[in-house]
Amino acid sequence: MNIDLSNRTAVVTGASSGIGKATAVCLAEAGADVFTGDIQLREETTAQFKELGIREQVCDVTSLPQLQSLIDGAAGATGRLDILVNNAGIIMVKQVTEVSEEDWDNCIDTNVKSAFFGSKFAIPHMQKSGGGCIVNTASNAGILPRAHDPVYSISKLSVVGLTRSLALCHSKDRIRVNCVCPGPVGDTEIMEEGLREFEDRDAAVRKFIYASPLARAHDRMISPEEIAMSILYLASDAAKMITGTSLTIDGGKSLGVPPETD
Ligand code: NAD
Repeated sequence: MNIDLSNRTAVVTGASSGIGKATAVCLAEAGADVFTGDIQLREETTAQFKELGIREQVCDVTSLPQLQSLIDGAAGATGRLDILVNNAGIIMVKQVTEVSEEDWDNCIDTNVKSAFFGSKFAIPHMQKSGGGCIVNTASNAGILPRAHDPVYSISKLSVVGLTRSLALCHSKDRIRVNCVCPGPVGDTEIMEEGLREFEDRDAAVRKFIYASPLARAHDRMISPEEIAMSILYLASDAAKMITGTSLTIDGGKSLGVPPETD
């Protein structure tokens, strides 16, 4: 089935690298008018986006005026808003006893508050357009919390909850709200940040791959494009009757104890 998003307007946050970038490209290639925002623009992405007609602007999603300006700007330029991908996120690898109030605020504001308020700003435009869809990037940590990153896990569990709650509230408006739960995804800044913590990078990569049964079977991490394809599906009419769901793309990482470690 070909997915055609012609005449649809999409906004993607955290789009200058990794999953957000792959998603913006995927949506644009399917015909959508794509508007992106990121706290940091990257030259290589800007060049690629230009070729595809993807618009980008600096947008810190923890700043509600900047977030609203991205969303209102997209709707204002095209007269409609159909798709919002709340993707921007940061990792927080710290034990509870080490977490400061600032750490907590940073992680929760970036990962959760932005998805809630992004949705708040998008919904009135979607109501005017007769419907729409929101896709949030959660994590496998939103299915099965992890011991090494409690604040991140809490943030992604919240994104799953927010997804289900808003899905329930806005079905009447034909607005669908879903999330993806990825991991471990290579070629992302978040993964690189994690890998920098280890002295032996190769051993760390193996550790991430080992944690996911399918990643292990394929001997590689999941790619940003593989997550983007699921976001594209959830944003398309092929998923017209799907709302409130969490689509896990983690190679089975959150299913339970993987073979050979039980
Ligand atoms: P990434 O670091 O490559 O992409 C995240 C992007 O968000 C970056 O471009 C960054 O500049 C941007 N960003 C960070 N803070 C921002 C802010 N305040 N305002 C606007 N933009 C901001 O990593 P990624 O893996 O592509 O991350 C995308 C999403 O995927 C995140 O929500 C992350 O939690 C989630 N995720 C990633 C993995 C993984 O293994 N990489 C696994 C599960 C979930």
